[in-house]
Amino acid sequence: MQQPSARRVSGSLFGLAFGDALGADTEFLTVQEILRTYPPRGPLEPRGNPARVTDDTQMALAVGEALLQAERPYTSSTLEAPLRQTFLDWYRSPENNRAPGITCMNACRQLERGMPWHEATNINSKGCGANMRVAPVALLPAGNDGVTEQTRAAIAQFQAALTHGHPTGLAASDLTVATIVDLLNGGDPADLPQRLRSYALRQSTIYHADWLGPLWQRSHVAASPEGFIAYGWDECLAVLDRLDVALQKRDRESDPCLATGAGWIAEEAFATGLLCFLLYPDDPQAAIRRAAVSSGDSDSIACLTGAFVGAYHGLAAWPGDWIERIEYRDRLTTRAFQFSAQRGAGVSLPGPGASPVSFPPSRAACGGAQKRRKKVFAGTPRTPAKGCRPLHSC
Ligand SMILES: [Mg+2]
Repeated sequence: MQQPSARRVSGSLFGLAFGDALGADTEFLTVQEILRTYPPRGPLEPRGNPARVTDDTQMALAVGEALLQAERPYTSSTLEAPLRQTFLDWYRSPENNRAPGITCMNACRQLERGMPWHEATNINSKGCGANMRVAPVALLPAGNDGVTEQTRAAIAQFQAALTHGHPTGLAASDLTVATIVDLLNGGDPADLPQRLRSYALRQSTIYHADWLGPLWQRSHVAASPEGFIAYGWDECLAVLDRLDVALQKRDRESDPCLATGAGWIAEEAFATGLLCFLLYPDDPQAAIRRAAVSSGDSDSIACLTGAFVGAYHGLAAWPGDWIERIEYRDRLTTRAFQFSAQRGAGVSLPGPGASPVSFPPSRAACGGAQKRRKKVFAGTPRTPAKGCRPLHSC
């Protein structure tokens, strides 16, 4: 089976970080406030050196690092411990001061106490914390040397389920991964929503019992495991309907959150992030700028737009100067290399402005994520708090 190119893998990983960094300054602002603060069209590039990202990129790295550390084949048993560990590393990190979602923080607090994950999770939360971090699942190789479509789907849902137990959080995470996989494989953006609808219908009654265990029993949305997960897919299909309507209008000027939702919940973050890509399928920077100039959860929306854009266009989508300045550049580079190496391919970073990166990467670049850090909270979550509203949280 043909595997996506290394440049698409790295393009998606860096893309999510660029979107996150661009949206970091615009989250919680109205479009008018954004344009007033960053005249005349909003922020044009990630700010600063390093250009700081938020919890979206931090947790995407946590998911990616757990996938790379886990024993194979992937099962709930082999993946749970690495996921717990990297989530707790993030939870305890002094760098976890970027408006983290309350759902993730609360679940990590329970995981730290040793609680079973299906009890630690918030069964009522379908916040976008479930899928803002899921992109690395799409980078796993497919086929004989990798994962099947169903294993990938189960992993996408399982990583969400550790913190966000609502079925729509699970389904939207699965759909987000399916989107990135499609684009990594060169799928035509023009009929992508149609393919995603087919995927959603195919998955709609598949409850991954080997992975999700008794999770569905804690929910009140359905009386069976199949009904539980179908509830989530139905909500994803409904937001795909809204995406279709928005794409017929092709309105590049209006706030995208008015069309497909503000993104505080997972299926809306997915749809609005995808809308911004599909409004500018051939203009990567315009796509993530549109996502960042939005009234809702701008960093998570732009993070997902960046992952979609980078998967489709590859690393060449992004200016070398951005690659040079982005926070966690070494970790992003190393993880891109490691995911690409699973396909027997290397990756290098382009100019102009960017220094070439040789592989294998340095030991220092590989080891930073594994350090246990003293528990320090340097900041408090801003409002609106992510994850505090049952069924409408992120
Ligand atoms: Mg964030």
